[in-house]
Amino acid sequence: MKTQKNIILDSINYLKNFVPTHKEFNTYKHIGRAVSNPLNVSYISQGKINGIKENTGVVIGNRPTAEQRKKYFTQTSINKLLKKLFVINTSEESKKLETISQEVDDFLKSSLDYEFKIFDNVPEFYAKEKENYNGSCMAGKNKLCFGIYDLINQSKKVNVKMAAFVSGEEILARALIWCETNKIDKICENSGDILETIITNKKFYLDRIYINNKLQNVCFSEMQHKLFKAVRQAYKIEALPCYNKSHIESYILNKYYHKNTEKFKFMCDRVTPDFIVSLDFDEVMNLNAWPYLDTFRYLDECGYLSHLEDDVKIIFDQTNGDYTEAGKCCDNCGVNMDTDDQIYSDLDDEYLCHDCAIYIDERGEYCNESNAVYNDYSGSYHYAHDLDR
Ligand SMILES: [Zn+2]
Repeated sequence: MKTQKNIILDSINYLKNFVPTHKEFNTYKHIGRAVSNPLNVSYISQGKINGIKENTGVVIGNRPTAEQRKKYFTQTSINKLLKKLFVINTSEESKKLETISQEVDDFLKSSLDYEFKIFDNVPEFYAKEKENYNGSCMAGKNKLCFGIYDLINQSKKVNVKMAAFVSGEEILARALIWCETNKIDKICENSGDILETIITNKKFYLDRIYINNKLQNVCFSEMQHKLFKAVRQAYKIEALPCYNKSHIESYILNKYYHKNTEKFKFMCDRVTPDFIVSLDFDEVMNLNAWPYLDTFRYLDECGYLSHLEDDVKIIFDQTNGDYTEAGKCCDNCGVNMDTDDQIYSDLDDEYLCHDCAIYIDERGEYCNESNAVYNDYSGSYHYAHDLDR
């Protein structure tokens, strides 16, 4: 912490050689890395120190505690702080300030201290996030949108958690980690009682890895790789299928190209999960809102949630709390139809497209065209099964 603080102060002192300082330069005290967001800096003004002492009796001494920094300090970007500390008159000065600002920014990004955490309560995690700080449209949305994660975790076989790198209160990287647990019950041959339940195997899937916007141009793939590794280690997983397989793979190839690549044998065999989630269809539909889902986004009539598009009823691809109803195929010609375009024929018990559905006037209903007989004389259709043969 001390050396980090020095680099920020050293840079400011260095800039004094090139750019005139603001008249209130000396009132900015205790400039250092921000506690709650280590990608930012924080400071406190002499006026505020005096005010706090007057009003609360709290003394902010030479070495403010982390608690004090968090509570009383003003957090900002290094660039904004430099613009408060210095007065720019020429383009030369502006250029110098921007260079120093960039250097400190790079330092803050490259010297991050963060820890790996796994969060069990996925809805709470999403709801607490800042909005759109990492390119995810679900960050910071209302908790009600994420009820499906609770249903998933109530299901017996599959659970889902959030794996993240956290620095202060800032999330640097995060991804959903899905796990399917397969068990068998050992049953007593005599009584039929369950003696013990044995876990036969576990399958994992690491969903799309989101990276904090501030790190995206700096170390996007590197952070993805690190989170991938951290998850593998935490769960002791040999091969971990991962949504971002290709990103991570090219990162490894680039980084270790000159070394023995065999040594870094990639432990990610596929980009899609090899299991699905079994839910109760009605329970899912009875939720108040639904999230946008990256991988497990297709729900079929039986309540199976998976990454497979075939024969699904619902697609969770909306960011406004809604979902998309999957279009049906025409039972006659097979063309894909939007929900608005499909015609249900009670007569034939089929879903038909506009080309294949014929309206039978005398019945006031549609039927499959192959069951419609045209009457040249009246110019209308009859339902074939209504006619005597
Ligand atoms: Zn059709």
